[in-house]
Amino acid sequence: MATYDLVVIGTGPGGYVCAVRAAQLGMKVAVVEKNATLGGTCLNVGCMPSKALLHASEMFEEAGHSFAKMGVSVSAPKLDLPAMMNFKQQGIDGNVKGVEFLMKKNKIDVLKGTGKILGTGKVEVSADGKSQTVETKSIVIATGSDIARLKGIEIDEKRIVSSTGALSLDKVPGKLLIVGAGVIGLELGSVWHRLGAEVVVVEFLDRILPGMDGEIAKQFQRILEKQGFAFKLGAKVTAVDTSGKTLKATIEPAAGGAAGTLEADVVLVCIGRVPFTDGLGLKEAGVALDNRGRVQIDPHFATSLKGVYAIGDVVAGPMLAHKAEDEGVAVAEIIAGQAGHVNYDVIPGVVYTTPEVSSVGKTEEELKQAGVAYTVGKFPFTANGRSKVNQTTDGFVKILADAKTDRVLGVHIIGREAGEMIHEACVLMEFGGSAEDLARTCHAHPTRSEAVKEAALAVGKRAIHM
Ligand SMILES: Cc1cc2nc3c(=O)[nH]c(=O)nc-3n(C[C@H](O)[C@H](O)[C@H](O)COP(=O)(O)OP(=O)(O)OC[C@H]3O[C@@H](n4cnc5c(N)ncnc54)[C@H](O)[C@@H]3O)c2cc1C
Repeated sequence: MATYDLVVIGTGPGGYVCAVRAAQLGMKVAVVEKNATLGGTCLNVGCMPSKALLHASEMFEEAGHSFAKMGVSVSAPKLDLPAMMNFKQQGIDGNVKGVEFLMKKNKIDVLKGTGKILGTGKVEVSADGKSQTVETKSIVIATGSDIARLKGIEIDEKRIVSSTGALSLDKVPGKLLIVGAGVIGLELGSVWHRLGAEVVVVEFLDRILPGMDGEIAKQFQRILEKQGFAFKLGAKVTAVDTSGKTLKATIEPAAGGAAGTLEADVVLVCIGRVPFTDGLGLKEAGVALDNRGRVQIDPHFATSLKGVYAIGDVVAGPMLAHKAEDEGVAVAEIIAGQAGHVNYDVIPGVVYTTPEVSSVGKTEEELKQAGVAYTVGKFPFTANGRSKVNQTTDGFVKILADAKTDRVLGVHIIGREAGEMIHEACVLMEFGGSAEDLARTCHAHPTRSEAVKEAALAVGKRAIHM
């Protein structure tokens, strides 16, 4: 029987990063993966394919609508959807190969099959009717998440799709109805809208991007509406009639009242994700779940079963690849006897649309609710030189700082490249920095990041260009 120091179940960003860090720390490691390819949701049907399509569709949109005003004259772009899907697949394959390379480089065994925990120190791996049992000192569960479903609405991944089907449609739908105005729905809605679909988003709450700063979300909604998105907020989809050529969705007000109908060619159900624990044998092994079906862990990622840990989407916290990665590193270090740690106060979130939305730390609503006295510094991209010359002035930077200490508590950006710009705020916050620290840091000119510095200056009411 093969024996290891660590067996990691799942090779998404949580699992493979954990395995690499453990190998770096001298452990003999194996990963178990039930999918044909490594890399989990993120590489195969999540972050990576969605970003490839967002990039390609943005280029299509730019070629059609923005080139001419810069004096670049091209004939109207034609969509070659199979080629775009091929571009996406090349991106996936390249990244999957990268993970395979990392496994080899770090001498990590890849065990293909479904992993089941038999008890402390024992994992059964089954594939094609055969199974083997491996022994290990520690086990990390990194089995990720699956799409959340709507009761009574069956996903066929053709006409009624999840995010997975929406990444592989074989033609642009005339009308796309998206259920849920969260990050994934708005990103995939952007892809298909740019390629020509009419997009309607139905959201149960009375706002989009739940959890993000309210002011940013409002501006984002206005920008998306200007782009052509339609929103039906405070409404829910309760059924989809698939009998005709066109789908007929029943929409009810969230607060109750008369139902209406919306027609669509494709319905994308994007109402969130749920932890994935099927086939792991957790109940029999004695690994406890919390009230939302997530693997329950203590602050050091330990489950209720000795020697078994869990990380990533399968445990509590934001369902983000970089959160899973950081937990993977931390748990490997803890197992190796070091002091692995994740700072959950500084985990950025990004929406990769045009413009992008990024955020780290507390929102204004959270500070109000916690009764924290804060000051706000804001700076619009309309007053940023680089944005003006590029004519990409949508959005603003918003910094929230403690009213007494000036410590930065939250940073929220809507604008082009916001996803790259957020990281200086992350570093600042990781070091407990103040708005003054940021305001006194020299920023290259002309960059969009100067708007971050100006927002920090605005906290002290001394922005220069406004
Ligand atoms: C469309 C979409 C876009 C996204 N975009 C972003 C983004 O831009 N940025 C971001 O941060 N996050 C994004 N996410 C979320 C991100 O993909 C997840 O947060 C991340 O993949 C979680 O990593 P993980 O390692 O916990 O699990 P996963 O990536 O879900 O990997 C889990 C792996 O475990 C395997 N597995 C499960 N059970 C077993 C078993 N019993 N035995 C063996 N193997 C098993 C699965 O096959 C899978 O490969 C997106 C998600 C989607 C769906």
